[in-house]
Amino acid sequence: MGTSRSINIRRSILFVMGLFPKIPSRIYLDWNATAPLSPAAIQAWTSALDQGWANANSLHAEGKAAARLLEDARERIASLTGVSAGEWIFTSGGTESIHAALYGCLPARGGRRRIVSSQGEHACTRAILDDLEARGFEVVRVGLSATGHWDPDEVLDACDPSCTALATLIWAHNETGAVSDVQSVASRLRERRIPLHLDAVQVPGRMPFDLSALPVSFLSISGHKFGAPKGIGGLFVRRASPWRRWMLGGEQERGRRSGTSNVAGAQAMAAALAEAVAVDLAQLTRRRDTFEAHLEATIPGMFRIGGGPRLPQTSLLRFDGVESAPLLLRLDDRGFAVSSGSACTAGRTDPSPTLLAMGLSAQQAHGALRVSFGCGTPDDALERLAEVLAQEIPALRRG
Ligand code: PLP
Repeated sequence: MGTSRSINIRRSILFVMGLFPKIPSRIYLDWNATAPLSPAAIQAWTSALDQGWANANSLHAEGKAAARLLEDARERIASLTGVSAGEWIFTSGGTESIHAALYGCLPARGGRRRIVSSQGEHACTRAILDDLEARGFEVVRVGLSATGHWDPDEVLDACDPSCTALATLIWAHNETGAVSDVQSVASRLRERRIPLHLDAVQVPGRMPFDLSALPVSFLSISGHKFGAPKGIGGLFVRRASPWRRWMLGGEQERGRRSGTSNVAGAQAMAAALAEAVAVDLAQLTRRRDTFEAHLEATIPGMFRIGGGPRLPQTSLLRFDGVESAPLLLRLDDRGFAVSSGSACTAGRTDPSPTLLAMGLSAQQAHGALRVSFGCGTPDDALERLAEVLAQEIPALRRG
């Protein structure tokens, strides 16, 4: 504490004397880890904290006011996603939704023991699948292409209706941005009456999604990825899907989830989703493509990781001979918040399993730099990052 105060005092003296470089204004390019709070979400959040602070399960007037706000948020989310309100369960975020989908579906599947998934799942799904395997379930993990996509035909080949309990797949990848073909897999699994869960945590605000046209049984979202605060998410459970509550305790969410409802979070998520579905995706794509073209033209030995259908606001890059850890530190010093991959694996030294499944070597995987942004990112942010990269990459290569 004392040390950092004296450093700050020294910095201020040097700054006043013109000897310390001005700390640059920050540019946040890590939206796939978490998106900044949207102004509409803040407004809805604070207003609901005021009007709906009570326990939505209480029978008094204060409780009823909170319950009304909760149901209003559910109805708005349902109408934005093309389904009925009763099909959305509020959760604490993506991790809980994925747990609820998987652990809730399996006991309702009449003893079927196979789960089909991919090698590109989020750490949370991977951990659940490992747990289920340890409990005697058979887990089939289909591979990824060099572009980072799972193949619908491979998923279908593994889905034998006599023994498959469910398929769980990531729709849009948090690290690579790869968007796999969920439409064809969803329709074909429905014909076989095999439930499908989609991890759609990276979808709102980055891609259109309409659950009236996508025959999935379960789908997970997380508010903090598209402008709502942390601590609120949603699990879509299509009516008549095989599913049982997996949490014991209270009877919230019509008996499907326990724990006092996050009314303000639900209101904020509804407001953030309304904004997310209106994002100009073509503009995000143009900005990303211009950024990547600029880097390609100015930095030799720069490679884009992945390809094919992908999120419009995610660039996963690597630079020959450069590790992402020192690059991140240098960029952070220069005012840019970017990531080496998913936040859940940042800080760990293991290479990303997704990148290894795509065929990258451990060394190449350690070089991955993820730039993810959104509609609130300043116009010149990517251009400024490209300029700084053009200085830092040669310096790191020399160093
Ligand atoms: N799935 C994906 C694809 C994610 O990117 C994340 C978050 O990084 C999660 C699941 C977990 O979501 P949450 O942070 O809301 O628990």
